[in-house]
Amino acid sequence: MTTDCSENFDRYRKQTLFSGIGEAGQKQLQNARVAIVGCGALGSVLAETLARAGIGFLRIIDRDFVDLSNLQRQHLFDEDDVQAHLPKAIAAQKKLQRINSEITIESHVEDLHASNIEHLLDSCTLIMDGTDNFETRFLINDYALESNTPWISGGVIAARGQVFIVVPHQTACLRCILQEEPPQTETCDTAGVIGPAVNVIASLQATRALQWICSEGQEFERRMTVIDLWLGIFQQIDLSLMHDNESCPACGLNERLWLRGERTSQSTILCGRNAVQISPSPGKSIDLKQQQQLWNTIGSTKLNPFLLWFQPTDQPEIELHLFQDRRAIIKGTEDLNTAKTLYTRYIGS
Ligand SMILES: [Zn+2]
Repeated sequence: MTTDCSENFDRYRKQTLFSGIGEAGQKQLQNARVAIVGCGALGSVLAETLARAGIGFLRIIDRDFVDLSNLQRQHLFDEDDVQAHLPKAIAAQKKLQRINSEITIESHVEDLHASNIEHLLDSCTLIMDGTDNFETRFLINDYALESNTPWISGGVIAARGQVFIVVPHQTACLRCILQEEPPQTETCDTAGVIGPAVNVIASLQATRALQWICSEGQEFERRMTVIDLWLGIFQQIDLSLMHDNESCPACGLNERLWLRGERTSQSTILCGRNAVQISPSPGKSIDLKQQQQLWNTIGSTKLNPFLLWFQPTDQPEIELHLFQDRRAIIKGTEDLNTAKTLYTRYIGS
């Protein structure tokens, strides 16, 4: 579909009337290139909000497929996506392109890691954090400092969450605030998460993105916003004293532990999913059709263009989702060793 200028004017009229955006801001949005890392709960609200606002180029990166347990809060997905075992990035792209056919949307069904981050985030001028884990956030932080790209962090659990923007060498980075990945004392597996808290946090992130882009980086909220939606608490925390451009290991001393791959885990528990991801060394691939023939003799399979689903007959509580890069998401266990054993048994080492 093509639209002329007057249709475009109608589409964005309500936000161009807003003085913070205006006609000039709308042009900046159309010229912007934004990456969204993780298209689960936060990521799907971010992607939808930014696509509707007319961001000219969106790149969506997500490693997971749509699961029934996602539908409670992940706006872009529905039961058909669950049935089809669609990767979230693909399902999101399909929906978003119907929402706004005027913008370019790229999808990548990949796990962001040290060896593909430069390729996956290349040419994006802003990075949105839709992830659910600290390992990826620390990796993004390293990349952001190395490439001088701002990123907007968001996190949510239960009814609480926080948002802040990292502008390399201007504001506190993630390692100014937290030197190392914190221990996971509470996860969405134990504390749960409610949809409205996700929506508020993602909306705050999206607002900061619009502000950053429309002002060409001149105006932005430097404080961290912390909320407890259930208790009705909103706080703004000044991070300026935490910014340590001299002794922060990342922005002061240029340490890049995550970007150099020194903090990469081969297996990850997917929070709230009763599932484990096993990632083999990068650079390997597998013929999914051939694998399907093998698995058809010992269980049920379904193949789509992106992944192969398998349920062994003698272990129906287990479901494997195998991607072309040999990465697998094993559902039915949260034990890393059990998942690794299953991976070796059914896929190989
Ligand atoms: Zn720092």
